[in-house]
Amino acid sequence: MTYRILSEETIMQNPHSLPDYLLQSDAVSERFARLKARDVILDVRHLGKRFRSPQGEVVALDDISFRTHRREFVCVIGPSGCGKSTLIRILAGLESQTSGDVLLDGKPVQGPGADRGMVFQGYTLFPWLAVKKNVMFGLKRNGSSSGEAEREALQWLDLVGLTRFADVYPHQLSGGMKQRVAIARALANRPRILLMDEPFGALDAQTRAKMQAHLLDIWRNIDVTVLFITHDLDEAILLADRILVLKANPGKVQELIEVPVPRPRGYSQFNTPEFIATKARLEALIHPEPTDEAPDEDAVRPHMIRMTDVADNVE
Ligand code: ADP
Ligand code: MG
Repeated sequence: MTYRILSEETIMQNPHSLPDYLLQSDAVSERFARLKARDVILDVRHLGKRFRSPQGEVVALDDISFRTHRREFVCVIGPSGCGKSTLIRILAGLESQTSGDVLLDGKPVQGPGADRGMVFQGYTLFPWLAVKKNVMFGLKRNGSSSGEAEREALQWLDLVGLTRFADVYPHQLSGGMKQRVAIARALANRPRILLMDEPFGALDAQTRAKMQAHLLDIWRNIDVTVLFITHDLDEAILLADRILVLKANPGKVQELIEVPVPRPRGYSQFNTPEFIATKARLEALIHPEPTDEAPDEDAVRPHMIRMTDVADNVE
């Protein structure tokens, strides 16, 4: 099955011409079948997190369950305060959960570890170390000799296109370049999963677009699973195999969406019906139309049938 390419304008005039976002071409559904047959890298089971604050208790995460498979790219989206950063901090081992389990390769996560690489929005490079030394830092800490670490670091800098900047200090780099170093540094330790919390959130639109394309390129070329937090719907659809949509107060899973847009991905797909249909669904989940009445829970359930992945993960 192939979709017709419609202009965004035509689609906005004829919203009924949009395909259902649950509809997948044969190629896409075969890709998902292959993906789900791969090993589970990250297994999040009934994760809960409560914070005590002067205003009372905050339920940041409530019964979050999902899995990511090897080499899968999962994006997490949701309104501000829905617990995205809390979730990724728990996965990184920087915060402990109140309930539930996080398994990486089947083993419970306890504290930070080299099996998880992290890239956050704020530039987290060591300002007193040159770019190459920033990338070497974790390698040396994990037991590599200086020579080995340098060789490795240069390979990763090559992958992110920064070989020429190996001896430059972070303050001499643009924001996009700093994030490329951060990605090289995170990948250098060969993590099982790359955890990214709005890594391009501080970049201007043009740099951000370049970084998205660049990240897709890197991900295609190496064996790494990615969990990527964003509040940008286009970014999530462009990057993800599946999108975990959270809601706030308490932070709960709303839906786990299989993105029907074929790979390889690019900006020319932003106007395809499947892209727009997915975006419309995300919009509806994240910015629901205000209603006077309490929502009828059953009435919105049909879309949730495909949430099997979430349900399946729960024994
Ligand atoms: P997001 O990243 O989706 O914007 P966060 O994970 O930062 O959301 O926060 C989720 C909820 O938990 C928010 O209500 C926030 O105020 C609360 N929260 C996060 N960290 C703490 C903390 N250390 N102490 C108290 N409340 C917190
Ligand atoms: Mg956050």
